Amino acid sequence: TVCVLYAFFPIPLKQDRGSVCLTYLCRSGKLCVCVCLVSHFCVIRLGHSYFINWDRKMFCPQCNTAAEARTTTLNEELGQVEYIFSDKTGTLTQNIMSFSKCSINGHAYDVLMVLGNSELDFTSFNPLADPDFCYYDNGLLKSVKLGDLHSHEFFRLLSLCHTVMSEEKKEGELMYKAQSPDEGALVTAARNFGFVFRSRTPGTVTVTELGRPVTYTLLAILDFNNIRKRMSVIVRNPEGRIRLYCKGADTLLFERLHSSNNHLVNITTDHLNEYAGDGLRTLALAYRDLSEEQWEEWSERHRQADRATDCREDRLADIYEHIEQDMMLLGATAIEDKLQEGVPETIAILSLANIKIWVLTGDKQETAVNIGYSCKMLTGDMTEVFIISGNTVLSVREELSSSVPLPLALPPLDPPSSTTLDSISGEFALVINGHSLAHALEADMEGEFVSTACVCRAVICCRVTPLQKALVVELIKKHKKAVTLAIGDGANDVSMIKTAHIGVGISGQEGIQAVLASDYSFSQFRFLQRLLLVHGRWSYLRMCRFLCYFFYKNFAFTMVHFWFGFFCGFSAQTVYDQYFITLYNIVYTSLPVLAMGIFDQDVPEQRSLEYPKLYEPGQLNLLFNKREFFICITQGIYTSVVLFFVPYAILSHGTQGTGEPLADYQTFAVTTATALVIVVSVQIALDTGYWTAINHFFVWGSVGSFFTIMLAMHSQTLFSIFPNQFHFIGSAQSTLVQPLVWLTIVLATVICIVPVLAFRFLKLDLKPQLSDTVRYTQLVRQKTRKPAGRCMGGVRVGGVPEGRLGARGGFRRSGYAFAHQEGFGELITSGKNMRLSSLALANFASRHSSSWIDTLRKKKHSNTHPPQNGSGQKPRSNSTAVVQT
Ligand SMILES: [Mg+2]
Repeated sequence: TVCVLYAFFPIPLKQDRGSVCLTYLCRSGKLCVCVCLVSHFCVIRLGHSYFINWDRKMFCPQCNTAAEARTTTLNEELGQVEYIFSDKTGTLTQNIMSFSKCSINGHAYDVLMVLGNSELDFTSFNPLADPDFCYYDNGLLKSVKLGDLHSHEFFRLLSLCHTVMSEEKKEGELMYKAQSPDEGALVTAARNFGFVFRSRTPGTVTVTELGRPVTYTLLAILDFNNIRKRMSVIVRNPEGRIRLYCKGADTLLFERLHSSNNHLVNITTDHLNEYAGDGLRTLALAYRDLSEEQWEEWSERHRQADRATDCREDRLADIYEHIEQDMMLLGATAIEDKLQEGVPETIAILSLANIKIWVLTGDKQETAVNIGYSCKMLTGDMTEVFIISGNTVLSVREELSSSVPLPLALPPLDPPSSTTLDSISGEFALVINGHSLAHALEADMEGEFVSTACVCRAVICCRVTPLQKALVVELIKKHKKAVTLAIGDGANDVSMIKTAHIGVGISGQEGIQAVLASDYSFSQFRFLQRLLLVHGRWSYLRMCRFLCYFFYKNFAFTMVHFWFGFFCGFSAQTVYDQYFITLYNIVYTSLPVLAMGIFDQDVPEQRSLEYPKLYEPGQLNLLFNKREFFICITQGIYTSVVLFFVPYAILSHGTQGTGEPLADYQTFAVTTATALVIVVSVQIALDTGYWTAINHFFVWGSVGSFFTIMLAMHSQTLFSIFPNQFHFIGSAQSTLVQPLVWLTIVLATVICIVPVLAFRFLKLDLKPQLSDTVRYTQLVRQKTRKPAGRCMGGVRVGGVPEGRLGARGGFRRSGYAFAHQEGFGELITSGKNMRLSSLALANFASRHSSSWIDTLRKKKHSNTHPPQNGSGQKPRSNSTAVVQT
């Protein structure tokens, strides 16, 4: 503080050696430089943050949320991101499921919205229908109306076999609270087709079937878990018939069907393949009639297993398995987890910008892979998609080493040359499971994992815990020295968001924990491209240009003192007037560089998005590095040499019009100062790429203020008031009328600027950057006024087709819908939740999701001691709860 004060209000110090040094430092304005640098930094960063907050193109009108920069210190790092780690559900997808297609008894009802197909009107047929439900296939509604028994049974199953809670505040105003959005979608579909789930008690389920209220006795809920991949209910209808209804993954359900279903299974499998190929999440539905004796016998065994104190879960699973046999297939459903708007386009653009995107999800492998295809991370023309799903260290190591062909697998610490990478990238993708990841993240295998993962264009980690998400980010930070960004929407992404250099929170359906932990937040994934390619790129560019210019102007300013030191014996005498030193960084040159740091652009925002390759200089840190720093310092020193020695050479021999010599200290000081302000102002005019009215005002205003203030400081009036403070009385007035002085200033300016101009022209001509080419193309386009055309073959982004569909013929994948956790069946049949209905459910869910820290701890423990035989281990439902919710 003392130094700063002294820089502003110089008072004489005692002349020992130390104080001379301090005086020299302070008086030559070097300390003032640091203060200005820091304050300029803060103002520019604040400006950039406000640009993000004010960006109307990052405003979501549906949820009335604007983008928010919750920090000011990371803006320029947004322009250097190399790795993005993204959550899936709620980040890439909307986490809103809709019932899309179905197959009932071998008949596919899958007419989608095309021309001529209007949305079905359910309200006329069913007053309890949900008005928000959309469906387009009239055939299905017709068959329900005509009394097709299969369709009725299909929707009866959907209305009975679930753990949804209902709330009916007013008659007919039904609200469903579903544990997973896909289950909610199925019950809502049944509701609209006339099978309305109304209410439940621990022992009954009441359904309004085509206008007729029916109460079923709920005998048992065979709950869902990740190994069973299905859930069932056993109900008794009012007539006394006992029936088991089951829904679950086709692969597991088909094994448990009665042999008479074979033909139907073939047809349904075809339909399922079609749905999975469209990226939809599928479930198969089946039922089984039970005789009273069968039920009694099973129920007794179930009771015993339920009471068991050891291995209760395994026993229950056994019992469930026993009754879920010889079922009759009803059909299959297909649910769409809609991608958020613009996700495939955003991912395509970000990949073109050479940003690697990793998806880390708690979801199942099939679902994750399907979403990967839908959002174009994985494509049909990829050479290979490696799937690592081993349960032991050995199998994971083997799978990893056999995945990428050996010559391609690179040691992680050697930075691979860009040509090697080019020849590899774009061919492979890696899908790794949570339990394999636990092994891959161990110290002896992480190098291998990183090298394999980094040659893949896309990496999907599924079934990962929040802690593993953070560990993967940490791994890349450790091995790659790259700027990482993590984006997520839920509490399970908080650890990852905090670990990455930059955390982005999506304010979606899952509360605000992610937003609170993040550095930037907005409501749609697609805004990420704007945040990185427009705001991030500009911030980086502006900051680099600011730094280069700031160092240049200060070296040009202070090095003059160094040259003067040879003539004044390195005493504390300064070249310039003391007030010039104080005001140089604060008034004469501060605002133009601030305006450049805040407003500058090289290419307009549309071009930034059209040519994602423009993002690369940031990743490679080309705009401000040791080389650039050296160049701007050299330029500053060169300028200082010119500014000192040209006036020195001329004025030492020059004379005024009256014949008196010009070689006095004060004339020299005024000439050098004027030349300095003019040279640095011309330089900023050259550096500014984007002129606004503010830039003009600041540049001209700064030059104007220099002359005004200098003439005032050197005036008679101020001297007569403070004779001790203003020593340069009349210097400016007498110096600036000399033609020789002006010639000197012009000559110094030309000598300083012409080499810079020549260098820039040569660089533009011989080694143009992409931004130069884009700017040139833009200029030519504006001149010829041609309509925007495609150029820069392969670089510019073409229109990525709209929509969710990953049309990828020939691939079979089962996208199976159940984002669920175990335990709800038990909760319902125990009756504990009934008193508080939905409130209890909400509490239960939040208790599960808020206990993620416990889960983290548990997982960490299990990661340090991984189970040697993973397949035999049954995962506790709680450990996956976080991932699911
Ligand atoms: Mg999420």
